[in-house]
Amino acid sequence: MSDRTFVGMQVGGISFIDEGIEETLDIFVEKAGVNAIFISALSWARGNAGRSGSNDFPDHGGQEPDHLQGGAFFPPDPRYYHGTSIKDFTAPDPLYEGFDILGDVIPAARERGMEVFPYYCETSHKNPKPLWQPGFAQVIEVDAWGRRASRPCLYNPDYRNWWFGVVDNWLNEYDLDGIMWGIEREDPLSSMIVSNEVPTCFCVHCRAEGHRRNIDAGRAAEGYRRISDYLTSVRGGYQPPDGKLITFLRHLFEYPEVSQWQKLWWDGHKDLYREISGTVRYFGDHYQVGLGIWQMINTFNPLLRAAHDPAEYKLYGDWLKPVFYNAPGGARFAKFVTNLCQTILGDASPSEWTPILYKILGLDEAAFEDLPPAGFSPQYVADFTRRYVDAVGPEVAVYPGIGLGVETVARDISPADCEAMVEASFDGGAGGVMISRNYSELTLTNLAAVGNALRRLGKI
Ligand SMILES: [Zn+2]
Repeated sequence: MSDRTFVGMQVGGISFIDEGIEETLDIFVEKAGVNAIFISALSWARGNAGRSGSNDFPDHGGQEPDHLQGGAFFPPDPRYYHGTSIKDFTAPDPLYEGFDILGDVIPAARERGMEVFPYYCETSHKNPKPLWQPGFAQVIEVDAWGRRASRPCLYNPDYRNWWFGVVDNWLNEYDLDGIMWGIEREDPLSSMIVSNEVPTCFCVHCRAEGHRRNIDAGRAAEGYRRISDYLTSVRGGYQPPDGKLITFLRHLFEYPEVSQWQKLWWDGHKDLYREISGTVRYFGDHYQVGLGIWQMINTFNPLLRAAHDPAEYKLYGDWLKPVFYNAPGGARFAKFVTNLCQTILGDASPSEWTPILYKILGLDEAAFEDLPPAGFSPQYVADFTRRYVDAVGPEVAVYPGIGLGVETVARDISPADCEAMVEASFDGGAGGVMISRNYSELTLTNLAAVGNALRRLGKI
């Protein structure tokens, strides 16, 4: 990255189609001095690639739902996909017919002196599923009951090889500066506790990895099933005589294989991050690897925080984009605490747990009842940016993801909020900012506010 302050923008193909390539890029430059664009070149998620999903469309772009199906918005070159069952994944949406989001956009971005990265973010949502995509059903996880589940298994060689093919395809065929990559996924325990989902994965590849590590896969699966049954009963009103947390821990200690399987699962994720990073660097040291880090991982969930020491990222990232959306953070954290209190933290109320969780997590925010309208403060953005800057040191830049327009917020995001996010990012030691979540969701007024703050700080 050059000496200039990094100003990144996440954008999906729909914006270029709705508003024009040249016109859209000119808005980025004029309003906010954007000098790096992050193209959602491969996505099934409306939040990354589609129009705003809340039917609350901003002051630009299409004003009706686009019914995104998703996939690749570039033409995958079959030469790169011999080693995988996933070969045909061009987005079937008619809107994108004949459009190559990389080949058509990159020259116009280069004319404006922008760096260009494709980005991929596997969002926490299970839907929309790529049901239409041949080969995808063969790589999805298996749950603790032996049923196929919903998300791809990161130990599945077809899925891994597909990703290495995508990186190969991108870097060989397009003029890029690197990639940004990240997964928003809960581990098997968290997915049961927080989201009432089934624990995974017990596919043949995960079982082989378990065998290699001398883990009893049968006992691990039985442990997850017992914990799942227990959490279901607690959600149904069961009051265990020894309390909800202690009884949960009793199950966990009865099945130490569950903790071993947790580590196996996390290692599969981290291995893929590292291998993708190495693949990008294989093409040349001038390519950058940026890692997107989910707010559940970097802030909210103590279990996910425990599994991710931020200092580890410096081994395989050139820079980080931790998502620190403060405005919707209040509503999202309130929902998270409520979910925990329906299971393992059910011995006290969300109001009682919130200040204790703040202490544990290093937060100092509004009372539980006030959280959705209050959001998280700009100070949160500054403090958590500093946490990451200190953890990774001067070799790895931190570009906080600032949320200018994110659906499911319980409060509007104002231009003053946006200016405060930018100032807080630099107060925390950021090397730049990533304008998020997606251009199609944010208002031009908020985008201009980011530009105002950057100019006032002398960053652009
Ligand atoms: Zn698996």
